[in-house]
Amino acid sequence: MGEVLNAAEAVWSGRADTTTHHPLGRPFGIEQVAEKTWFYKGFSGTVLRETEEGLIMVDPGAYFDAQVRFEAIRSVVEPRLNTAVFTHGHVDHVFGMPYYIQESVARGWPRPKAVGQAAMPARFRRYRESASWNGIINGRQFAGGSGRAVWPLDYHEPDIIYEDRLTVRVGGVRVLLRHARGETDDHTWVFFPDTRVLCTGDLFIYAVPNAGNPQKVQRYARDWAAALREMADLEPEILLPGHGWPILGADRVRQALQDTAALLESLHDQTLALMNQGASLDQVLHEVKAPADLIEKPYLRPVYDEPEFIVRNIWRLYGGWYDGTPSHLKPAPEQAQAGEIARLAGGADKLTARALELSGRGDHRLACHLADWAKLAEPDSDRVFEAVQRVYTARAGAETSTMAIGIFMTAARDAASAVPDQQIKGVSPIVKMQAGREKTDAAR
Ligand SMILES: [Zn+2]
Repeated sequence: MGEVLNAAEAVWSGRADTTTHHPLGRPFGIEQVAEKTWFYKGFSGTVLRETEEGLIMVDPGAYFDAQVRFEAIRSVVEPRLNTAVFTHGHVDHVFGMPYYIQESVARGWPRPKAVGQAAMPARFRRYRESASWNGIINGRQFAGGSGRAVWPLDYHEPDIIYEDRLTVRVGGVRVLLRHARGETDDHTWVFFPDTRVLCTGDLFIYAVPNAGNPQKVQRYARDWAAALREMADLEPEILLPGHGWPILGADRVRQALQDTAALLESLHDQTLALMNQGASLDQVLHEVKAPADLIEKPYLRPVYDEPEFIVRNIWRLYGGWYDGTPSHLKPAPEQAQAGEIARLAGGADKLTARALELSGRGDHRLACHLADWAKLAEPDSDRVFEAVQRVYTARAGAETSTMAIGIFMTAARDAASAVPDQQIKGVSPIVKMQAGREKTDAAR
């Protein structure tokens, strides 16, 4: 067993966990996982299946690692690429085709083709139209607002488009492609009946599903759960995920698929039941709870997305933007609200003093409200910004998910940048993961 499968076994058995072995993190590399089947673990996963007429590939790579991945794959697997399946149009999955096309030209091989679901071209169009926005939100999600916002424009459109289901035959190997709405509206999951290998795309990522993402478009929790149940019905023996660690063994795969479905169903059903009673978003957010026995599973920890964010996405699927709090229907500008609150409290410094007290006690939610009001009420005070930076840095340090850490670190960084000579003391979400990992490595 190589490093990747070793890590997979360690995480499944509880010798390691996804706070130290984050599903997006190292070790990276390519390993054989079944007969004629290889898995490349990077930030995202690539699956390679050898046939008599070349390779079937699931997800060639990310825009930021396509060349590294191509070279790693080519150091181990030689046959030409016949067909690539794009599991969905996210930028960490659909890049890398030009390397295989160049190679086919250079070696006189037939040009490889890519297959994607019918909603994918509209997604690529949206990404090109909103590239700057997407760069900014990804900068918050993954880098805590540090660095330069980047977003690619050069998408490889799928050569073959399908709607609901498609069976592909390459070199005597049959591959089933199934469409399901889940993390995206264009998702495909892939099953190889001969080897019983399941490629889930991002419908499974070895963490709480990315069904809530605060900054991105609608996700579909119930359809997602149904797709996971359908996968389990095929009795796969190997699960190769869109992110995170492979799962080997029919019992483990079934358990992981069914538990993930059960978590999504629970959040969906609790949220919809409260909505049917006329609850406000505030009530829904604070009353719906993820089942504790599920959220503790090694493959369902909230290290990337969170149940609370999933609840919001379910609300958004069934509801409008009105959240049930009447003053929110046509609100005063936040700065005017903050000015009133600061005046009543006796000034912005009173707000920050209380914010730091609450933060010190671990009540980060309330502390951040006070910090936001203080900042808006006194947008020119270095003292206020210094306190805001401390409150958000403490909050980022207390969070578990990439998404929350990233957004709160961005808030800390923004506050720090408003103050001369202020250095940000916090860390980006990725750095926090790596720091956690080094700690564990050192403890071994
Ligand atoms: Zn992904």
